[in-house]
Amino acid sequence: MRFEDYIKNVPDFPIPGIQFKDITTLIADPVAFKAAVDELAQFVRDQKAELVVGPDARGFIVGSAVAYAAHVGFIPVRKPGKLPRETISYDYDLEYGKNTLCMHKDAVKPGQKVVIIDDLLATGGTMDATIRLIEAAGGVVVGLGFLIELVDLNGKSRLKNLPVKTLIQY
Ligand code: AMP
Repeated sequence: MRFEDYIKNVPDFPIPGIQFKDITTLIADPVAFKAAVDELAQFVRDQKAELVVGPDARGFIVGSAVAYAAHVGFIPVRKPGKLPRETISYDYDLEYGKNTLCMHKDAVKPGQKVVIIDDLLATGGTMDATIRLIEAAGGVVVGLGFLIELVDLNGKSRLKNLPVKTLIQY
């Protein structure tokens, strides 16, 4: 499966200079979406993860499908003010702009093995923040899975040599 054939590059979105990788064309295709989810679900099983954590917002789309296929639970990591119960939070810089991410304090149990799934790895800031939230809750991150990796931004260097699975590299 040539997953890259299903991604649309959108220059200068959401701000000038960003080459936005649009995954909506991949997830709109039933064969490509299923193949991508199945490959990431196999990674979740290989890592023996008990949970998938997915960051707001495209991490919900990919991560929840992967969790379902791998027969594990899904935990959303969200922007501030969205989760109804007590949260832990972490502030970080994006490729464009700043962000804060929150997770329910009791979502990940101490010692639980977690794979984080998102649509795209850029600078690694989102992953770094998500790893910190999981570790603050006592969870153990055993892998990171993405549809897309922007290799030149070297996000992997921030990710503590954790196993990384990516389906498309640019
Ligand atoms: P980063 O924290 O820098 O690794 O950025 C990753 C997050 O930002 C992911 O959740 C992506 O959805 C989004 N993102 C960053 N850069 C891009 C891009 N060029 N195209 C699409 N999404 C991006």
